[in-house]
Amino acid sequence: MAAKADSSEGEIREDFLGRVAILAPGRAKRPHDFKAEVPKKTTPKSKCFFCPGNENLTPPEIERTSLPSKKGWQNRVFSNKFPALNKGWHRAYGMHEVLVETPEHSKTLSQLSENEIFLYLKMAAKRLKAHAKDKKIKYTSIFKNEWEAAGASLEHTHTQLVGMPFVPPYVKQQQKACKKPCHFCSINKNKKFPKIYSNSNFTLLCPYVSKYKYELWIVPKKHIGSIVDMDDKTLLLLAQILSIALKTQDSYLGYPPYNILFHLSPHHSKGFHMHLSITPRIAKWAGFEHQTGVIMNSVRPEIAAEEYKVNLIK
Ligand SMILES: [Zn+2]
Ligand SMILES: [Zn+2]
Repeated sequence: MAAKADSSEGEIREDFLGRVAILAPGRAKRPHDFKAEVPKKTTPKSKCFFCPGNENLTPPEIERTSLPSKKGWQNRVFSNKFPALNKGWHRAYGMHEVLVETPEHSKTLSQLSENEIFLYLKMAAKRLKAHAKDKKIKYTSIFKNEWEAAGASLEHTHTQLVGMPFVPPYVKQQQKACKKPCHFCSINKNKKFPKIYSNSNFTLLCPYVSKYKYELWIVPKKHIGSIVDMDDKTLLLLAQILSIALKTQDSYLGYPPYNILFHLSPHHSKGFHMHLSITPRIAKWAGFEHQTGVIMNSVRPEIAAEEYKVNLIK
């Protein structure tokens, strides 16, 4: 459906994480202006480092998920060929891994089944546990860059894990927001965070201060720190809502470049309330954003949530 016009006045907003945005409605390119087509992947499978048959082109495999019903692997993990951090480096100690989510070259994450997404999340949790065994690793950043404009250097869909010897400042800010009374626990009752969909354990919503227009958050209803703390039933519910979020975003915004950011607890730390953010990169950060750290957003999160809700794909 066509997006509603928003001719209301601008507004300055700040959230409990210290994020500030200026809502400047009326300047937006609307979603119906975007093409709802899956962008074509141009690398031939024979030349793709991440395709089955080319396993010898990646650094040695660390883990793989195999299914009895399927030949080969469903997902696999190996070290990044060009790591940012390395266990052998004294001044940049850490781990940098790649998790290939599917053997199928042409598929995007939103095109995987709920069970395939569940297996992907389960593998990410397994690697987190392995990272936590190294006491020098304090935090593992998990993120996904989808399409080149969101930072992906290879088009076969994949996720990266960076185990680092310190807790990043933004994560420390999140830790503060998780102290009692936890802001994430009360988010379901907070009208500033417009809801789109929920299942028994998770809520899909638009954040009050969106870093990117049409940004999405998935927040657990209970105070839970990480995917490593979830049983299979809960992880499957997370896979279900992540699948709905990605399918809806991709179809409504026309397969935009985007990032998935896993905001998870630092290792060996208690009290965190995790969430996932999905940030479509349909608007570029310009000089103002880089200079001030304040974001200009032309779509109100409550309007984005309303549009997502009527275009929801389950
Ligand atoms: Zn491939
Ligand atoms: Zn909480």
